[in-house]
Amino acid sequence: MMGAPPPAGFRRRERPPEWAIPCPLDYCRAKAGTPCIGRTTGRPVAEGSHPSRLDTWLTNQPAA
Ligand SMILES: [Zn+2]
Repeated sequence: MMGAPPPAGFRRRERPPEWAIPCPLDYCRAKAGTPCIGRTTGRPVAEGSHPSRLDTWLTNQPAA
């Protein structure tokens, strides 16, 4: 089956691959290997990292 959404409450248990790089957001600045911190909450974000971090990581991947 393709395209099935993840079940409610789904959380990634392993480290997201984008943790290999620091977060590029000024208000976050999470170090490599650490979760992103929400600007308003001061707590790790539920997704583990900000979309900008993932996008930056993806952008820097060598072409397959
Ligand atoms: Zn971040």
